[in-house]
This record gives sequence, C-alpha cells and structure tokens, in this order.
Amino acid sequence: MKIVLQNLTKKFPSRNRKSREDVIAVGDFTFEIPDGMLVGLLGPSGCGKSTTLNLICGLIKPTSGKIFFGDNDVTELPPENRGVGMVFQNYALYPHLTVKQNILFPLQNLKGKDKLSKSEMENRTLEAAHLVQIDELMERKPSELSGGQQQRVAIARALVKMPHVLLLDEPLSNLDARLRLQTREEIRKIQRKTKITTVFVTHDQEEAMSISDIIVVMKDGIVQQIGKPQEVYDSPVNLFVAKFLGTPPINVFHGRVKDNTLYLGDSPVLAAEGVADQEVTVGIRPEGFVLQEKGPLCCKLVQVEVMGRDISIVSTHEAFDGTAVRSIVDAENSLHAAGEYVHFALKPKKVLIFNKETEERIYL
Ligand code: ADP
Ligand code: MG
Repeated sequence: MKIVLQNLTKKFPSRNRKSREDVIAVGDFTFEIPDGMLVGLLGPSGCGKSTTLNLICGLIKPTSGKIFFGDNDVTELPPENRGVGMVFQNYALYPHLTVKQNILFPLQNLKGKDKLSKSEMENRTLEAAHLVQIDELMERKPSELSGGQQQRVAIARALVKMPHVLLLDEPLSNLDARLRLQTREEIRKIQRKTKITTVFVTHDQEEAMSISDIIVVMKDGIVQQIGKPQEVYDSPVNLFVAKFLGTPPINVFHGRVKDNTLYLGDSPVLAAEGVADQEVTVGIRPEGFVLQEKGPLCCKLVQVEVMGRDISIVSTHEAFDGTAVRSIVDAENSLHAAGEYVHFALKPKKVLIFNKETEERIYL
C-alpha cells in the first residue's frame, strides 16, 4: 500500500506564556511512500517524528493537509479503520496476559464483518508469533521475557491484524546495543518477507541508515532531505543533514574561497572552481583525509587510536570549529602518523562546502 502525505501540517497550541505562537510539530510535509518500502524517519528529539506517525495512524488529526492510503483519502478515518499496525515508543504489553493472549488481543476487538472465528484467531496468532520467532514463549507472561523478546511480542501484536501499513516508533530504544542490532536485522527481514509498507522512526542515524530503503531527515517539524541513505550521506543538502549523519561526525572547519580555491586557514586545500569568493563552512568526512607527506592540510597531532582495520587520527587545526579533527585512515598507514604534525591531502568528494549564513550546500 503506498502512502501519500500531502502538505501535512500539525500545530499544537503554545503552552508558553511568553510566546503565543503555535508549535509547528509537523510543517507542510509532502511525500509519497512507495508500496512495500521501509522508510526511516530520522531526526533529533522533538523534531516531529512521533507526531508524523500518529497522524499516519490516525491517533491525531492534522491541522491541514491530507493523507492517502493508495488512492483512498483516509484523513478523516478513525485509526481502527485504517488497517495500520503500530508499535509505540513506550510499548507496553499487558502484564497479566500471556504472550499468546497479548498477541490475540487486537483480534478479539474486531467487530462486524471483520470478526474472526476462534480458530482463525488462533491461526493468525500462531502465524504472527512464528514470524517474529517467539513460538516457544506463548505461555509466558511479559515479566518472564527479555527486552528483545518483549519487543518481538509487541511487533507480533502489531502484525496480527495483517496491516497494510506498519508504523514503528523508536521500537529499539529499550534494548541494549547487541540486541538492538539483532532486532533491527530481524525487523528488516520481517518487512522484506511481508512487504508491508513500513515507517520506522528513530533518532539514531546509524539505525536509520542501515535499515531503510529511504530516509527522511527532519528538523523542527520540517523535512530537510529525502533520499536513499547513501545518497543523503554523500550529498547532504545542508549543514544540519551533513552533521546529523555519520559516525564519527563530519569535521566542520571555517574556510574561505578565494580565486577558485578553498582555503583552511592559510592553506589552499582544494580547487573550488566556479565558487564566488566568500567565507564558507567546510565539512570534511573522517574518511576524506589521506595521509600524505607533503599534503596541503597540516594538523597538529594529538593521538592515534588503533581500531584494527583502521586507525583514527585525532589532531587540531586553527580553522577547525570544535576541539579535535577526527580522521580515519587505513591501519597500514599508521607509520606515517607520528611526530608533531600530520599532513593530509583531501578526497574532493568528501569535502562539502556550505553557505556561512544559510548553511545551505554550495555545490562544487
Ligand atoms: P519526536 O517524536 O521527533 O521527538 P514529537 O513529534 O513528539 O517529536 O514532538 C514534536 C513537537 O511537538 C515537540 O516540540 C513537542 O513538544 C510538540 N508536541 C508533541 N505533542 C504535543 C501535544 N500533544 N501538545 C503540545 N505539543 C506537542
Ligand atoms: Mg517521539
């Protein structure tokens, strides 16, 4: 089922006495989610992710704009008639019910033509449990499960109604690191298998990048960029997106373009053909540095961290906006990272230039 968001806007009344202006939780969000895709909705806390999800599932009504499932306008449709499965940010299983009863629960509430027979309900419950591999746990209570197992029960409960659309709001936030990784791979597998159009909300860029077909980066209720994870990483439209994606984060410098050349401090580091003379903000990805004896960028070496396959070089530079420049180079180069200074050449594709005021990208 494709989902169309059309100029979707949600404002909340301000609770702030000083400012009477409404909070724009989601502002003019237009996007068509293709059928069967997994879309990652990504942004810092408070940027409007949960509000967007609640609008799609129908728990809240938009201030303006429309939502379509396929060709149907569902904007006025109550949540129970939309055919969505949802896992909430703070999912809660019913503690007094067994796993099986928890999964079964949404089916028992179906009315009219949707009503199922006992054996149909039983079958659906077993199918959903099988899909998330908790067949063995059906008679346990939630308190007898690990966090990851509880999470799977919550997902099974969202899947049991065979929704056209699956909405997951930070579903992994309560899990430890290893389990997060495992569960996210599992969600991806289940999504591929069922081909349910899925919106996955997270503030964790790595999670969004690894699981999504498409990511949507939001800030203050406004969509910044939509694209395939690699495209958005390689070609962010502004400084916010550039900084939000990537670990270690992009290195931000104060720079200057003069005579078609990019300068960091006094050093000419890259050709900037066709860019007018101006002060700029420069982002360099950690993997954009190449150790080179006579390289144009000279940094003061702080330390070298061995990470096995790679080494991370920590250094400082007068034009750097922050405490330490982090670059990642092949471990074979470790011998060259000794002494008081390190010299780098830069990979042009990994150097991004932004307008100093608007922070919009300047394309080279
Ligand atoms: P996220 O899920 O990205 O952390 P939310 O969608 O929950 O963000 O919130 C977006 C903005 O809308 C925040 O500024 C939040 O305070 C505000 N907001 C969310 N729900 C309400 C509400 N029911 N009443 C007033 N403001 C709200
Ligand atoms: Mg939220």
